[in-house]
Amino acid sequence: MSCLKAEHLIIGGGISGLAFARYSDDFQLFEKEDELGGYCRTIRKGPFIWDYAGHFFHFKTEEFKRLFVDEVPKDDIIYRDKCTKILYKGAKIDYPFQTNIHQLPKDEFIDCLYDLFTKTEKESYDSFLDMLYGKFGKSIVEKFLKPYNEKLYATDLSTLDVDAMGRFFPYADKEAIIRNMKESKNSSYNNSFLYPKAGAGSFIDILSAELDKNRVHTGESVVSIDCKNRLAVTSKGREIEYRHLINTIPLNVFLPMIGENSLCEKLSYNKVLVFNLGFSKKSSFTDEHWLYIPDKACNFYRAGFYDNILGQDKLSMYIEIGYGKNDVIDDKETEKQLALTLDNLKKLGIIDGNNRLEAYASIVMDPAYVHITKDTDALIKAFFARAAEEEIYSIGRYGAWTYCSMEDCMIAAKKLAEAIKTGAAMIKS
Ligand SMILES: Cc1cc2nc3c(=O)[nH]c(=O)nc-3n(C[C@H](O)[C@H](O)[C@H](O)COP(=O)(O)OP(=O)(O)OC[C@H]3O[C@@H](n4cnc5c(N)ncnc54)[C@H](O)[C@@H]3O)c2cc1C
Repeated sequence: MSCLKAEHLIIGGGISGLAFARYSDDFQLFEKEDELGGYCRTIRKGPFIWDYAGHFFHFKTEEFKRLFVDEVPKDDIIYRDKCTKILYKGAKIDYPFQTNIHQLPKDEFIDCLYDLFTKTEKESYDSFLDMLYGKFGKSIVEKFLKPYNEKLYATDLSTLDVDAMGRFFPYADKEAIIRNMKESKNSSYNNSFLYPKAGAGSFIDILSAELDKNRVHTGESVVSIDCKNRLAVTSKGREIEYRHLINTIPLNVFLPMIGENSLCEKLSYNKVLVFNLGFSKKSSFTDEHWLYIPDKACNFYRAGFYDNILGQDKLSMYIEIGYGKNDVIDDKETEKQLALTLDNLKKLGIIDGNNRLEAYASIVMDPAYVHITKDTDALIKAFFARAAEEEIYSIGRYGAWTYCSMEDCMIAAKKLAEAIKTGAAMIKS
């Protein structure tokens, strides 16, 4: 088998790997799957267009927004002001919960308000859970923030770092909460979003369109890496000599490849089982883009409506169910969860007995949300510093082991490519 040479060996053809390749002249990119895109892929079944769980674009930079707006055909771009609700005890409450407590029944509203004003704030907090209690008080935490995030992260929230959700956590102080009762002002990071009519995966076609196809290898994974000799081997037995190694695959998969097993064992994360469901007719939920479900009696924590985003005439949904990293999601578990999901959709009034399931697909996102903890964060940073000395860089949501959006992945990839060019490559994106 031939030996390839490249300045940059890119492992993974998701949005991070492809974005890095756009800024490199001399690369070889290997993607395990037959298709590029990683978690930003689209599945089509009959009239239904589904992603790997909803993947919506919230741009904060002009550069990547322009790439989207200029390249996706104008008539295929959907702009939406987000409409999201929390299903709470049979009622719909606007998201985020903490700024919409005035929509609760009076006694629950008083509890939330009282606890908000009598809570004990601290200078610094020990954990994510500790921070939630300190900033919002017992009732807001126990009615929504704790059960919802426990369902999502599938872990004890006191093990997570204070800043586990970074900019994605909708902070609000007392003044903002009170002001929102009269002047509703949704100020979360994703108030509006863009979406291509053909699904999020169509953006991958744009991102990869100009890449030299001879340098992009799908259906071929990197299976071993000899860091000392800067030599990698692929599943097809091909050897690649590289100068810089750009990793975008999950850190828990990458670390054992380079002999960093002890750090790997310490990493914690969740998995998410996603159901994409296509039904025979529309639901009575005609406006919502997605819903948050804190009730632990319901198996899923989030449910989204592609049909309301795309303007389709049949209910087309995604459902997300959180699992711990050691939980097994086999066929039996998937079947059980599908039955539970359909049952819960009925209980929540999203489907009725006449709404037939016409098509479905299930996907396991493993990992889905990394658990950012103080201990592992320090160890990961130390690893990135060591790796950078050998010109090994790990980027992307799972390579950098962080909580970030698709655009954040592209920004980090571009920044790294530029830093390598100028000889100022950073330790961590
Ligand atoms: C439930 C959920 C919902 C989300 N919703 C949104 C959203 O609405 N908007 C948003 O901006 N972001 C969203 N995200 C985040 C988004 O999915 C990620 O930020 C982004 O897709 C990460 O891209 P990546 O390229 O870093 O990683 P990945 O997409 O994981 O790509 C890594 C690639 O590496 C490949 N690979 C693995 N092992 C090997 C190997 N040995 N050799 C070669 N290739 C390999 C994989 O097949 C994969 O293609 C969501 C995430 C989750 C979990």
